[in-house]
Amino acid sequence: MIHMPNAAVALDQRLTGGRATAWLGRFAHTFMYGRHPTVLIFFFLLLSVGEVMYLPGVWPRMSTLSRIIGAVSIILPYWFLYLAAFKDPGVITPTTHSKYMSKYPYDYALFHPGQVCRTCNIIKPARSKHCSVCNRCVAKMDHHCVFINTCVGYENQGHFVLLLLTTAWLLTFGAVLGTRMICEDIQARHPGWRLWKPSRFSWHDYLILLTFGIQDHVGRGGVTLLTLMTSPLVWGLLGYHIYLIYCGTTTNESMKWQDWQAEMDDGFAFKRAMPTDRVKDPRWEPTWTRWPVETMQVLVRTEDGSPPDPQGAPGVGDWERVWHLRDVENLYDLGFWDNLLDVLVPGYSFRDELVTDEERGRRSKKPKETRASAIVDAAT
Ligand SMILES: [Zn+2]
Ligand SMILES: [Zn+2]
Repeated sequence: MIHMPNAAVALDQRLTGGRATAWLGRFAHTFMYGRHPTVLIFFFLLLSVGEVMYLPGVWPRMSTLSRIIGAVSIILPYWFLYLAAFKDPGVITPTTHSKYMSKYPYDYALFHPGQVCRTCNIIKPARSKHCSVCNRCVAKMDHHCVFINTCVGYENQGHFVLLLLTTAWLLTFGAVLGTRMICEDIQARHPGWRLWKPSRFSWHDYLILLTFGIQDHVGRGGVTLLTLMTSPLVWGLLGYHIYLIYCGTTTNESMKWQDWQAEMDDGFAFKRAMPTDRVKDPRWEPTWTRWPVETMQVLVRTEDGSPPDPQGAPGVGDWERVWHLRDVENLYDLGFWDNLLDVLVPGYSFRDELVTDEERGRRSKKPKETRASAIVDAAT
């Protein structure tokens, strides 16, 4: 909670009966933890004001081809920002519940059937999560993003990744173009000057000329500096999300895998086989999903480190203690291209292809030891 000085609270008690501080407290709480578009508006303005300041200094000197690429580069981030922010991220309501139940099977590791969201009063579909900011359950919830003022989930994850990609591209395009023109302007007045400092220029002269070049068109120079500083951040965030897709996981799930790693380190995690031809209880689990594979393992934790009761949990056979994430399979990883397809084409039916267990081994293009373990290795 937000702390207010005692003197201010006492004064407010006298003047308004405590209403001003109560209002301020509620406002601060909403601002810190609630859903509001402040960062979204800031992001939009940063993009737009940056373009308005930058373009007059570069547009007249751009070639036709460069102008076409530039115009498309400017439009695309707005388009994907609109889609990512205003399209339904995959909110689970009584109407959409059965649809999202049939997207992914339960993996009996991160997601077990029959878990209820007490706020929404629904059975949580596999890979879903309740967003505490939006106060709703979202299918394949990745995280709540303040830049788009909504959750990144099943329906808008592709738009979110494309927003990152197009923004990273726009910043890089702007940085390269701006740097080139700044260099050209300096060279026009001081032939022999290069961005890579020539030895005949002292550091002092080199930097003075560079500073003058940047200040020549303040808008162009300032925005070029900003794009140079921010584009690595956006490329980094894009790289992280591409890696999550490569692993077939989400931000939320990678944190759950980290928790499992801690359980395994303590020796409290056990697994055993799950028969793939088992009969599902339709009260808790969808009998059909579009996902091509079913879990072949059950993962449980115990309080005291002794194996679970053989009768009390699903699966067959003996329990085996699991020490490493590499000994556990991530059901939601079909290999990079299929994972990417799942992100870019929500609802893509993987069941159209008949996939046997043998083929399943071939579909995944990476060795098995990079499964669940790789997710956590990257995050830590
Ligand atoms: Zn919920
Ligand atoms: Zn949210």
